[in-house]
Amino acid sequence: MAQHTTLAGRVALVTGGNRGIGAGISRVLAQQGCAVAINYRADQASAEKTRVGIETAGGQARIYACDIGAAYAPVRDMVDRIAADFGKLDILVSNAGVNIPAMSTAEMDLDQMRQVMDANFYGALYSVKAATPHLRRAGRGDAVFISSISAIKLPALRMPYGASKGALEALAITYSKEEVRHGIRANIIRPGLIETEMGEKVVQRRGLKNLEEAYRIAPYGRLCQPEDIGRAVAFLCSDAASYMTGTTLTVDGGGLDWLPPVAKT
Ligand code: NDP
Repeated sequence: MAQHTTLAGRVALVTGGNRGIGAGISRVLAQQGCAVAINYRADQASAEKTRVGIETAGGQARIYACDIGAAYAPVRDMVDRIAADFGKLDILVSNAGVNIPAMSTAEMDLDQMRQVMDANFYGALYSVKAATPHLRRAGRGDAVFISSISAIKLPALRMPYGASKGALEALAITYSKEEVRHGIRANIIRPGLIETEMGEKVVQRRGLKNLEEAYRIAPYGRLCQPEDIGRAVAFLCSDAASYMTGTTLTVDGGGLDWLPPVAKT
């Protein structure tokens, strides 16, 4: 694999970096010269696989288990351990996230609502709070928050996910303004449909059998890959984006209008 060194010498934490979009982000950052700390919650096998793939390609990676939405202290301990292991931490990619089955607000399962907020919002808050002292020390620090086009589309029956991503974006924009004076850039990426386990559930809710069926009707003859998001992250962390903060990049191939509408439950 060709090694580019746009991000040579930098150290990145990718939450949920073991599989799906996070694994694509981890691989692209490693290709561009970052040492990568791969966080995962439960799936150690995929974390090991992503780590081995990076190392086989000549990159540097380690894996770190932590449920980032459960409480602040374990996240802080993990972040401090990463900085000690690699000597610093200067990029945080807040990617970990969950979704739940469609349900109306009137019939909301409140425990599931909390689970979504814990993973998608509090996990990001704990991560960025713990990472900030390290990012400030780095001279240039970058925080990239993986949101979703759902944050602005706010589809019916998806309130927990939309609310969690809206709150995540409020956190990211506010944080970007607070940290300008400390040399930190904070930006948002809004993916559309990406080819991952979560992406497969999205197409099934819209009446397609699987992702293969989606391929036949997708824009540009393909589905968006985790690496497409990885390249957007790498750009935002690079010198090419050194004057960008508090901004949002949408990576969705022009929207999801090519998919059938969400089926009613
Ligand atoms: P997947 O379901 O494929 O993977 C989810 C990832 O998040 C896993 O790595 C998982 O770890 C991790 N994770 C979930 N909860 C926690 C937690 N509490 N602590 C630590 N890690 C956690 O999702 P995607 O890769 O598709 O999604 C990644 C991000 O992109 C999410 O924020 C999602 O909302 C967003 N997104 C995805 C889209 C898509 O179409 N796929 C579209 C728009 C946005 P583990 O494997 O250990 O459980």
